[in-house]
Amino acid sequence: MSKVESLSRWLGLDTLKDQYAYGTDSEYGVIAKEKIPDRWVKTTCGYCSVGCGIQIGVREGKAVSVRGDLDHPVNDGKLCPKGLCEHESISADGRALYPLLKQGKGNAFRRVDWGVAYDEFIFQMREIQRKHGESSFAVLSTGQLVTEEFYTLGKLVQLGFKTPNYDGNTTLCMASAVAGYKRSFGSDGPPGSYEDLENADTVVLIGANIADNHPILAYRLLKKKLQGEQGPKVIVIDPRATKTAMQADIFLPIRPRSDVYLLNGIAKILISEGWVDEEFIQSSTSGYEELLNSLDDYSLEYISKVTRLEAGKIYEAARQIGTSKSTLFAWTMGVNHSTQGTETVNLINNLALLTGNIGRTGSAPMSITGQCNAMGTRETGFTSSLPGYRSFESLDDRKELAQLWNVSESELPQKRGLAYPDIVQGILSGDIKGLWVIGTNPVVSYPHRKKLEEAFKKLEFLCVQDGFHPTPTTEIADLVLPAAIWGEKEGTYTNSERRVSKVNKAVDPPGEAKSDFDIFLDIAQRIGIREKLYSNWKQPQDAFDEWRKVSKGRLCDYSGMSYEKLAEGPLQWPCNDTVPQGSPRLYSDGKFQTKDRKAKLFVVRSILPPEEPDPDYPFLLNTGRTVEHWHTRTKTGKISILEQAAPEAWVEINPRDAKALGLRNHDWVTVSSRRGKISRIRARVTSIIGPGQVFIPFHYVEASANRLTLDDACPISREPNFKQCAVKLQKLRY
Ligand code: SF4
Repeated sequence: MSKVESLSRWLGLDTLKDQYAYGTDSEYGVIAKEKIPDRWVKTTCGYCSVGCGIQIGVREGKAVSVRGDLDHPVNDGKLCPKGLCEHESISADGRALYPLLKQGKGNAFRRVDWGVAYDEFIFQMREIQRKHGESSFAVLSTGQLVTEEFYTLGKLVQLGFKTPNYDGNTTLCMASAVAGYKRSFGSDGPPGSYEDLENADTVVLIGANIADNHPILAYRLLKKKLQGEQGPKVIVIDPRATKTAMQADIFLPIRPRSDVYLLNGIAKILISEGWVDEEFIQSSTSGYEELLNSLDDYSLEYISKVTRLEAGKIYEAARQIGTSKSTLFAWTMGVNHSTQGTETVNLINNLALLTGNIGRTGSAPMSITGQCNAMGTRETGFTSSLPGYRSFESLDDRKELAQLWNVSESELPQKRGLAYPDIVQGILSGDIKGLWVIGTNPVVSYPHRKKLEEAFKKLEFLCVQDGFHPTPTTEIADLVLPAAIWGEKEGTYTNSERRVSKVNKAVDPPGEAKSDFDIFLDIAQRIGIREKLYSNWKQPQDAFDEWRKVSKGRLCDYSGMSYEKLAEGPLQWPCNDTVPQGSPRLYSDGKFQTKDRKAKLFVVRSILPPEEPDPDYPFLLNTGRTVEHWHTRTKTGKISILEQAAPEAWVEINPRDAKALGLRNHDWVTVSSRRGKISRIRARVTSIIGPGQVFIPFHYVEASANRLTLDDACPISREPNFKQCAVKLQKLRY
């Protein structure tokens, strides 16, 4: 009997699987008794949009452990490093425990009760609106709340406070995917499923380092190969030789910001070689002739020169796509974080449409979203659409929604309010004076930090609602509202494959923290609109049940779901009477959400990036993530095992460039752009990054990459260009 088996028996555990789930203190080590749960609570991981099923181990009212949910279809019981210690975020230091108020700018916080906090919040925001107009109050939310909270918040902001200026940090990560889907297919909504990663003949990953950012998807991509079967051929397009790129069959280390050329070039090869689905193009798309006529310039030699990729490799990638029975095109921030993000998404959609790779097993243009419930806010929120992907501009859509809510159509906004970067600009210009930030940390996560800090200084009143305090953003707030976090509240999350999973409460929030749902309803009560907008709502399930009705008949149809059904397992929308077990794919009938029911092919020409290297700032900065950390480390920075694995920021530089600067691995450097400076950061000399480029992870406030980045945004989606700006490096002598 092995040590593990003996230990398992000694502890009275059923299986080795259970033993591992409880966690060990050392190799086969002693399991601390206090880590053995009394009960397990099924829920969904609260970090990324993979949406892994997870169980929280609870002992005496405390979260003491986690384990992967073997029954959840997303993750086969597996979790990535962040998921494996997620319970520690609940008991981490620095939780926001009580409402805190500053008595005037520059004063220290003092603890107040919830009544005082609500009164102050409502008085300040209403007073600002009375003096400067309803739009002078804006809201910045997140992708971290449960869907029920997004639905409740949208009504509160738009119909209660009557301000259109409501957006989320989701605009910082996937607004270009949303806008690209709407333009190509007539609606938002990723059309594929994660199982397509396993079942496709070919998977093309564009600007998507899933090994670091969506690790369980990387496992699913390689699953068949790991089991000794033939898995998909993997093509990775990325300027960095990431961990994902290292798994590729064909790696295209593209010159940054030349993806429009490459995607057009591949389209041209597909068409010239006859590797397209003529029947699908004729029956289900529009714009083919215009696209065809636009591709004359994109010869293979020209594309090779512009992208700095070998012509043979480009052709081989196109051949692989064009001759496969099924191809999945997946992308993330490498595409979205660009001033041409939306149009680049349209070009990816073009490739899927030209080859008929949509609505079939293994075939989709698939945006992999960032946060655990960015999809929830896309579907229910008032940010990019009216709830249920209804259009702000459509009178019919507004009338239908107004009727469902029993309000006047004139109460609904006729156009989208300001997007995140425009809210920041609105604060700077003095149009916006009051801001409510919910579940996000803009001081670290927004590009061009200096500008953001200047903007926030101009606010008359800043309220930050968060599970943690202090954060760089709560510290500068006038009012902090303490919120419950993952594990402390109930609702649903929707992942990037449209799969809705139940989120359950395992423990009570600490101190006086409340769920965001309760905070929104309390505020609604105090401004006198609770009865009108949320009649008889008491719990998140009431919001979910109304949302089911509001989504009925829409593409994102939840009407066939219920909390009871979701307790049995997650479901993919659309889910209704016709498809009660949900739908793995959209557009299987070749009909789209456009007026003519055809998907649109787009002609796109490359535009120049907003900033390029020059003699003063000779390197191109790319920013991104590492597997151990989440966003601005308000959670993961407090989890010792993750901090030990990735304790500090670094700047990756190619050995050739390092030599020219006299830099050696681990030397300290300063990195500067025209907007700001990181005073001290370690160099990581590596050929993962190409010559002329550098890479910095954005998680670290003490070496904040967003001091350097610029906030120019895609004109269509308003998503900022986090990925490219010009910087210089200087070696520090100590
Ligand atoms: Fe959580 Fe994403 Fe990791 Fe899954 S892959 S455990 S959802 S962070």
